Amino acid sequence: NRQVRLARRPVGEVRDEDWEQVVEPVGVPGPGQFLGRTRYVSLDPAMRGWLDDRPSYLPPVGIGEVMRAGSVVEVVASEHPEFRPGDHVVGAFGVQDYVVSDGKGALRVDPSLAPLSTYLGALGMPGMTAYFGLLEVGALKEGETVVVSGAAGAVGTMVGQIARVKGCRVVGIAGGAEKCALLTGELGFDAAIDYRSEDVRKALRTHAPDGIDVYFDNVGGAILDAALTRLAMRARVVVCGAISQYNNETAVQGPSNYLSLLVRRARMEGFVVFDYARRYTEASREIAGWIADGRIRVKEHVVEGTVGDFPATLQMLFRGENTGKLVLRLT
Ligand code: NDP
Repeated sequence: NRQVRLARRPVGEVRDEDWEQVVEPVGVPGPGQFLGRTRYVSLDPAMRGWLDDRPSYLPPVGIGEVMRAGSVVEVVASEHPEFRPGDHVVGAFGVQDYVVSDGKGALRVDPSLAPLSTYLGALGMPGMTAYFGLLEVGALKEGETVVVSGAAGAVGTMVGQIARVKGCRVVGIAGGAEKCALLTGELGFDAAIDYRSEDVRKALRTHAPDGIDVYFDNVGGAILDAALTRLAMRARVVVCGAISQYNNETAVQGPSNYLSLLVRRARMEGFVVFDYARRYTEASREIAGWIADGRIRVKEHVVEGTVGDFPATLQMLFRGENTGKLVLRLT
C-alpha cells in the first residue's frame, strides 16, 4: 500500500522534500470495516491550508500522517453491513492505494449514473461549494450580474454555469486566452477577463457596466481588490477562497478597497461547504438534472498516474495548469 505522508511543514510553495512516500502492507478490515482500493484522488487548493499548523475549520495534517484527500475507492473486501465488494465509495480516504475504513462520512456512489470522477467534481465538493456559495451565501437573484474569479477551475466553472441557469449575466476571470475562450464558448459565460494580460479593473467596467451584484471570489489578492471597486448597491461578495494567498510567506494581502462595502451597502461573507452537508443530496439531484439536460457541462482535468504523482499534480493548481476539476486517476 503506497502512501504519501507529510514529512515536514512547508514554507511557501510545497516542495518534494515536504512529502515522504512509504509502502506499507495492505490492511485487513475488521468487523464493521471495509477495504477500499483507490481509483481517483481529488486535488484541492485547500490542501495547502491543511499543511499549516494553525487553527482552521479542520485540524492540520500531522507530520508523518497520510495526506488527507477526498477520493473514490472501490470496495475489495468488507466486514461492513452497508458496503459490499464492488461498491464505489467517496470519502476522505487519503493519498494511498488502499484504505481500511469504518464508513463514517463515506457515501456510496453509482458509476452508472455518472463517471466516478464526477463525484469529486461537479457532483462532489466543488459542485456543492458552487451551489451553496452562489445560491445561499450569494443569495443570487434572476437577472443579476455575477463575476467569478478562478472561473475556469472546478468551482468556478460550476458557479458560472449555475448562474447562467438562473438567468444571470456572468463574467469570468481566469488566466490565459485559452481558458477565457472556453468560458465564453463551450460554457456560455457572457464575458471573460484574462487577468494575466488585461487590466481587471478596466475590463470589469466594460463587462459589468451596471456593477457587480455577486462577486464569487476564489482567488483573493489584487483581483478581489479590483472587483470591490465595481460593486453594485447591496452587492454580495462571497469569500470562497483565496488561492493567490495560500503560498504566501508573509501576511495575507488584505482588501484595500473594502470601504466600497460601506458606500455600496454591500456585504462580504465567507463560508465552508461542509456546513451544508445535510443538503448535499438535494443539491446533487438538481445539478445532475442540469447536467442531464445539457445546461451544465462537466469540465475535468484527469491526470493518470500513481499515488507517487500526487505532489507534482497538486502543484498544477497553483500554476494554473488545470482546467476544470483536477483529479489523479490511479492506473
Ligand atoms: P481550481 O480548479 O479553481 O484550481 C485552482 C486555480 O486557481 C488554477 O487553475 C488557477 O487558474 C487559479 N490560480 C492559481 N494561482 C492563482 C493566483 N495567484 N491568482 C489567481 N488565480 C490563481 O480549484 P478549486 O475550484 O478546487 O478551488 C477554487 C477555490 O475555492 C479555492 O480558493 C479553494 O480554496 C476554494 N474552495 C473553498 C471551499 C469552501 O468551502 N469555502 C470548498 C472548495 C474550494 P488560472 O489559470 O485562472 O490562474
